[in-house]
Amino acid sequence: MDDVVTIEDALSTRAQKERAAQAGQPMYASRVKVHPKEIGGTYRRLKWAVLIVLLAIYYVVPWIRWDRGPDAPDQAVLADIVNGRLYFFFIEIWPQEVYYLTGLLILGAVGLFLVTSLAGRVWCGYTCPQTVWTDLFMWVERLIEGDRNARVRLDNAPMSAAKLGKRSLKHAVWLVIAAATGGAWIMYFNDAPTVVGNVFTGQASTGVYFFVGLFTATTYLLAGWAREQVCTYMCPWPRFQAAMFDEDTLIVTYEKWRGEPRGRHQKGQAAEALGDCVDCNLCVAVCPTGIDIRDGQQLECIGCALCIDACNSVMAKVGRPLNLITYDTTRNQEALAAGAPVPKYRLARPRTVLYSLLLLIVAGLMLWSLAFRASLDINVLHDRNPLFVTLSDGSIRNGYTIKILNKTLEGRAYLLGIEGLSAPRLTVVGQEGEGADNAILEAEADSVASYRIYLRLPREAVTGDSLTFTFTLTDPDSGDVVYNETVFRGPKP
Ligand code: SF4
Ligand code: SF4
Repeated sequence: MDDVVTIEDALSTRAQKERAAQAGQPMYASRVKVHPKEIGGTYRRLKWAVLIVLLAIYYVVPWIRWDRGPDAPDQAVLADIVNGRLYFFFIEIWPQEVYYLTGLLILGAVGLFLVTSLAGRVWCGYTCPQTVWTDLFMWVERLIEGDRNARVRLDNAPMSAAKLGKRSLKHAVWLVIAAATGGAWIMYFNDAPTVVGNVFTGQASTGVYFFVGLFTATTYLLAGWAREQVCTYMCPWPRFQAAMFDEDTLIVTYEKWRGEPRGRHQKGQAAEALGDCVDCNLCVAVCPTGIDIRDGQQLECIGCALCIDACNSVMAKVGRPLNLITYDTTRNQEALAAGAPVPKYRLARPRTVLYSLLLLIVAGLMLWSLAFRASLDINVLHDRNPLFVTLSDGSIRNGYTIKILNKTLEGRAYLLGIEGLSAPRLTVVGQEGEGADNAILEAEADSVASYRIYLRLPREAVTGDSLTFTFTLTDPDSGDVVYNETVFRGPKP
């Protein structure tokens, strides 16, 4: 009965460790270094194309200019942390509009769910930064140290001048790429030409050098050293992406029903009683995570499809039909294994419909909100102490701090008014004249203007200790009006 593992045991790390210790096994397996072999083919070409496009976007975008007027930054995509602005071409997001970022994150997450439920781990296999930079680092490694066998030989060889030279050159190139990666990241938070000039002339801030160093180190370590271990041990996504899979999700699959029993046979001669898999292990040799797809779906499989390219090259050589390893759905594979007709692919399934609807709703809401976004806003803060003052003539006065958010790229003069109070009298601290029921307040382009305001009511108009009313702020140029409901405090009746 000792061999029986309960669910509690299976879920308990402690129980697993105790069992491993009792069995005399080490608690943690050491890393088996993966030396992926180079392979050509359709998916490899696709991966190169995606890599080039993504790297080009990453490095080129900060250099795109966008004219926003004389006093605004002219970088198309910029996160201006110091001034609290996020610029994306014609869109400018203020800190108060952080919900747009939330919307973008929701769009990204739901988009990822949809893509995963349709085509498995294509994000991991093609577009994840870890995959892209690891691919680039492996390409450099292959260029300097040679393909799989040469690298294994070099690893096992004692240190020599040649080995030291190759290793030094590889790490130097990796560091240059890592520094370029960290440097490019900084350009998204500063004016690109300025910050690059400052970095090279030693005039950049300590913060800039710190973040360039941080991103250089993380890129170098994650893409050069950790590689597949990031996907296998550090990334949470593989742990729950399986929840988005169903029997109609396209995944990289080994056609066991035609590959097994595996065994070596000659070109054009399918050995009696053998399947199509010639057991050449090329699919394992090219795998960047070092797994054998013939063992079935595994957490380590990032869906890069390089094993499809590898196996197709073998199938072509031995004269067998291609796609022994293929992108296919579980439903199709079950039908093929049973010799039944292949069912029709179902694009519209409950989960894909749900994700698509969510995407449309969130994207629609964001577009609507952007299209009708006010270029003006008002925040009002009532004085906390004192809540009100009784003046010598018996009238009651309240104090407020008013902030005007002018989101346009030109200075504006706005009309402040009051609705819901009888006989109000306004005084703007620092402005001449008092006692009018409205006031002109100016705000510079793309900025927040702050004013202290006193509002006075005759004693007889203060009919309660808290009167609700509304400040109105009108832009005479555009006709836009914004409102802020607040209270006027007075003595208890
Ligand atoms: S098993 Fe195939 S698809 Fe999965 S990671 Fe390895 S090579 Fe890529
Ligand atoms: S590459 Fe194809 S034939 Fe070779 S071991 Fe893998 S599945 Fe079998």
